[in-house]
Amino acid sequence: MAAFAALPGDAVLLPPLERTALLLDLDGTLLDIAPTPGDVVVPPDLVQTLGRLRGALGDALAIITGRPIEQVDALLPGLPYAVAGEHGGVIRHVPDAPAERVVLPDPPACWLAEAERLVSEHPGVLLERKRHGFVLHYRAVPQFGEALHAALAALVEAEPRFVLMAARKAWEVRPGGADKGTAVTALMRRPPFLGRLPVFIGDDVTDEDAIRAARAAGGAGMLVPEQFGDAAGVRAWLARTAA
Ligand SMILES: [Mg+2]
Repeated sequence: MAAFAALPGDAVLLPPLERTALLLDLDGTLLDIAPTPGDVVVPPDLVQTLGRLRGALGDALAIITGRPIEQVDALLPGLPYAVAGEHGGVIRHVPDAPAERVVLPDPPACWLAEAERLVSEHPGVLLERKRHGFVLHYRAVPQFGEALHAALAALVEAEPRFVLMAARKAWEVRPGGADKGTAVTALMRRPPFLGRLPVFIGDDVTDEDAIRAARAAGGAGMLVPEQFGDAAGVRAWLARTAA
């Protein structure tokens, strides 16, 4: 077998790039976490690095994120070959092709009113609406984290088609049935990913499904804090890998 490159921490080996598919989370992995999702900054050298990497990987470069695909297009225009958005709820397998949406249930109508009530009762909490759910961000007011969790857990308990996910200083209510792990599996079934070894990098609880899926497919899954320290560490490693 060809030479494998050691990853930071020496815990995992990276297959040669011509046999690798690189599947990357966005926030906290490629981009530094910002006070709100709209405040993130894309470093210019990251754009260069991803462009180079995509070439070296024979296009096998994908972003797997909780954000809608349109936001990935706005932040990294034309850079990944494929994008999975909304935690695997929607996947665009080929650039410029229509995105394929996993059929998911809509949350009960009263849930959004409940989310709005929670926001008004906990000043500083931010409501982010998603197509099939919503997120309550409590980054600015961490003391409310537990109370929000209790309220949302009570909602989700009554509707088993939905799950409550912990994210970074946020709680997300979304349907089960699609996650970042199902996105990894779906991407790896098609060219240019097919036949390569998936290497997934993510920073968050929601990335653990993808890490498991990548490892189950014979590849590697890595958590940013353990392997790279932070997003700057990931960017530096990607730049070295692309060089
Ligand atoms: Mg992340």
